[in-house]
Amino acid sequence: MITYLREKYMLFKFEVQGITKNPISIAKQLMKSQYWDRKKINKYQLDHLNKLTHEAIKNVKYYQKDEYKKINSFECLNSYSENIPVLTKSRIKESAKFLINSNNKNGFEHATSGSTGQPMKIKVYKLAEAYRIASKIRFYQWWGVNMFDRNVLIWKKAKRNKSVLYNFKKLELKLLGRLELSVFDLNDDTVYNYFKKIDNFKPKYIRGYKSGIFELARLMDKHDLQFENSQLKVVVVTSEILFENERSFIERVLQCPVANEYGGADGGLYANECPEGSLHINEESIYISTDMDQNAFVTEIFNRSMPLINYKNEDRLVFSDKSCSCGRNLKVIKEVKGRSSDYILCRDGKKTNSLVLGAIFTKIEKEHAQSIIQFRVIQNDYKLKIEIIPGINFVEEFFKEIEASIFRDISNSLEIEFQLVKKIQAEKSGKLRFFIRQS
Ligand SMILES: [Zn+2]
Repeated sequence: MITYLREKYMLFKFEVQGITKNPISIAKQLMKSQYWDRKKINKYQLDHLNKLTHEAIKNVKYYQKDEYKKINSFECLNSYSENIPVLTKSRIKESAKFLINSNNKNGFEHATSGSTGQPMKIKVYKLAEAYRIASKIRFYQWWGVNMFDRNVLIWKKAKRNKSVLYNFKKLELKLLGRLELSVFDLNDDTVYNYFKKIDNFKPKYIRGYKSGIFELARLMDKHDLQFENSQLKVVVVTSEILFENERSFIERVLQCPVANEYGGADGGLYANECPEGSLHINEESIYISTDMDQNAFVTEIFNRSMPLINYKNEDRLVFSDKSCSCGRNLKVIKEVKGRSSDYILCRDGKKTNSLVLGAIFTKIEKEHAQSIIQFRVIQNDYKLKIEIIPGINFVEEFFKEIEASIFRDISNSLEIEFQLVKKIQAEKSGKLRFFIRQS
């Protein structure tokens, strides 16, 4: 009943904000369209991509350049991906004002976290926003949860001021059944308070940056804390690459499955993980293709306010060619490989995807459970500093094993230094990258 009232309140809020199409009814359609056959999904996407491209060429200055002029309609998705020009991040930053639709200026403003530089401001059309919310509603339904059920949001931001607006927002969140906790001040002394707050709140789900949720789990484990009142159905991690050892650690401590969310403030909510473990693209509102180097190109098909057409989001992806046993026909991402710029640079100029490091550490954790809780590698010149939070089964022999794997899989010309740490500090944005190349 309370969830129902929250739903009604949210709908009212959406309407006030100008979201005319109700996200809850869109979600109902999405529950059907997820089972469409591939032919129908492809046709739907092609029609919408053509529509968006036409509108952009007509009303958006950026798309009135010569390279777009020759475009008529695409006959298939492949032809779209192969022929439509690429929109890069730097182009968006340079030409932001020319990307606004003169006929549809209104929209929600979203900003990226700026973890790789300046934040980017993106205008999101109301219908696109409605689809972002609807995709979320559907995702929670996959896990047997109503998005408006009691939930906890964990993030890593400094506390905001205590203004009237802040207090009003806090009250509103309470009514909406959400507890927002910043793990900015989470440490050995405060973890019990955080734990108690969450457990007494009895959330159905927890959502947040992976590093924030991981930090909570790490401290709860260290202090032997286990939820007693909460009956969590799912923990949703977002914004950072999730390694298998981190997933199993969080699942063990919080005693509930972890589901991955992949998206960005810029391009929308790209994909969500189903209970069968597949990361399904929200294809009713997102089109993604990849090139030979696995670079991803995204188009959010309803963002008419600031169309980002064939936007290179700087992630690398691998699609799965198998269909998921859950029966949903939405395309599956097998692997998110992270930013294309995150590579380890070797002396001979060779560049190796930093994800190789993830594979090395995951393998050790698989063979020796609870040995490595978390790691981070920082490259300076040809030296890798490896920070490790050791688990209870960690032994120093792993240093040799890691070194040998790095020499074999990456390069034996790299210098390696290990450091056992209690905590790995996140960046200013609140995110935690497992690999950073400083020079
Ligand atoms: Zn599935």
